[in-house]
Amino acid sequence: MTTNEITPATNFIRNIIEEDLKTNKYEGRVHTRFPPEPNGYLHIGHAKSICLNFGFAAEYEGGLCNLRFDDTNPSKEEVEYVESIVEDVRWLGFDWGDRLFYASDYFEQLYEYGVQLIKAGKAYVCDLSPEETREYRGTLKSPGKDSPYRTRPVEENLDLFERMRAGEFEDGSRVLRAKIDMTSGNLNMRDPIIYRILRAEHHRTGNKWCIYPMYDFTHCLSDSIEGITHSLCTLEFEDHRPLYDWFLDELKVYHPQQIEFARLNLSYTVMSKRKLLALVEKGLVSGWDDPRMPTISGLRRRGYTPESIRNFCERIGVAKRDSTVDIALLEHSIREDLNKRAPRVMCVLRPLRVVIDNYPEDRMEELDALNNPEDPDMGTRKVPFSRVLYIEQDDFLENPPKKFYRLSPGREVRLRYAYFIKCVYVVKDEETGEIIELHCTYDPQTRGGGAPDGRKVKATLHWVSADYSLQAEVRLYDHLFFEANPGEDADGRDFTAGLNPDSLETLTSCRVEPSLAAAEPGSRYQFERLGYFCVDTVDSKDGAIMFNRTVTLRDTWAKIKKANKR
Ligand code: ATP
Ligand code: MG
Repeated sequence: MTTNEITPATNFIRNIIEEDLKTNKYEGRVHTRFPPEPNGYLHIGHAKSICLNFGFAAEYEGGLCNLRFDDTNPSKEEVEYVESIVEDVRWLGFDWGDRLFYASDYFEQLYEYGVQLIKAGKAYVCDLSPEETREYRGTLKSPGKDSPYRTRPVEENLDLFERMRAGEFEDGSRVLRAKIDMTSGNLNMRDPIIYRILRAEHHRTGNKWCIYPMYDFTHCLSDSIEGITHSLCTLEFEDHRPLYDWFLDELKVYHPQQIEFARLNLSYTVMSKRKLLALVEKGLVSGWDDPRMPTISGLRRRGYTPESIRNFCERIGVAKRDSTVDIALLEHSIREDLNKRAPRVMCVLRPLRVVIDNYPEDRMEELDALNNPEDPDMGTRKVPFSRVLYIEQDDFLENPPKKFYRLSPGREVRLRYAYFIKCVYVVKDEETGEIIELHCTYDPQTRGGGAPDGRKVKATLHWVSADYSLQAEVRLYDHLFFEANPGEDADGRDFTAGLNPDSLETLTSCRVEPSLAAAEPGSRYQFERLGYFCVDTVDSKDGAIMFNRTVTLRDTWAKIKKANKR
């Protein structure tokens, strides 16, 4: 399946939208939004939400999708996060036109809504301390108790709320609460806080406000203000929907329809911003864009394409039940995409010197190599061949076990796009016994990889010329966690205990063919027989190329699928 071939599968959200279009529920409009809180970088879970929201908008005539920052918590939010989110959504290939919004743009309006609720007798200023508020709230099993301030007269509430805004009271000393039902089975309905006093500089409104609306109050009303038709969100907000309905109904404002879907969880990684932030802050990764991170910026730096991520999101579909997706499916998506478009080149990760004894010392010849066997239009390139070469250390074994068909003494193999070579003898370090170099002969008749006498070899190895190759650093990445479902234990063990100590291996003496001298940061290649790699966009400098391994060639997903079919 390629990007173009994918036709959107029916899913329950699409069914709801189609039904609403049929009944003309929103005058035929489809208007969604992606509403991140700018308190961290986006991850692959967010990509699912982005693809859904922007995807539905694109699917219907006149459909729109807003990008809106739900920035109600200045103590955790930063401009750096806003900027990274804008960059990531755009990189994924989506466009919000002129509809970039901030909940903080609505602070004045939200304040008015607060006043309106007070006037209707539906909100009150409460002076209980945070501890008392918690105590009064009750538990899942026991009902809450009314706050003694619940019956405050409207005039007094109006006066206190205004003075909260004016900065007359200390942080945390008072809150504005909705007056709903302290005995409700849904804890969200037990007179939730809608405004708190907090002296923190906001990344957009600066010090204009010392009271901030709570997320639940802000989120549903921002959707209403923007005329959103379908408010897509993850399942944990199902219990908040009655509260959102209550706000919208009591304020008699436009009412979007909320639809909940299951969050994406991926094996061998974590997906909460809190945990990802902890990894960054503890220095357990190099930053939010560390190529091992499940963040959009990490995946981008790792070499993932926007297409592969969108494809992945289409494949996983949407459901109402939480589940964990195998990370092998994500890897399969990028492998499939790069197989079609990544040029093939040769790189030797752990070089072993090979001297071709019967090849002239001063000679160099250029051999033709295919840039992509999957796509002849990608053409060919020249690869220099000379007397001294490098092959991969693990492509040689002095005493090969059965079924090891690569090079060993006396054995003949093919060098990709070049000649058959035969190993004649091995030179070792006298003291350590370590293999220093191999001496081989080549058969000039086999140029291009075939023998005129029809004799066969069982292996084809990748290689580079020693003199005509470049040194490069290559970073091999593996899963960030060795546990499939890393999480906190009941006995309090931290989730970082599941980190894979071998998630990064750095190789500094790799050799790549000279065609890579001009490789642009971010460009992607298949290193023959090894995997897909991209030039690192952060650390690569002129004269010092660094590659990140995006993914190996081993398609574990295809294997899983095959096994399931059997
Ligand atoms: P996290 O739990 O990682 O901190 P969040 O839900 O707090 O994420 P938001 O910035 O509020 O992060 O998320 C923006 C949007 O992305 C929300 O609509 C949220 O439901 C959605 N979203 C977040 N995580 C996932 C996920 N794993 N799968 C699908 N959608 C997600
Ligand atoms: Mg959230």
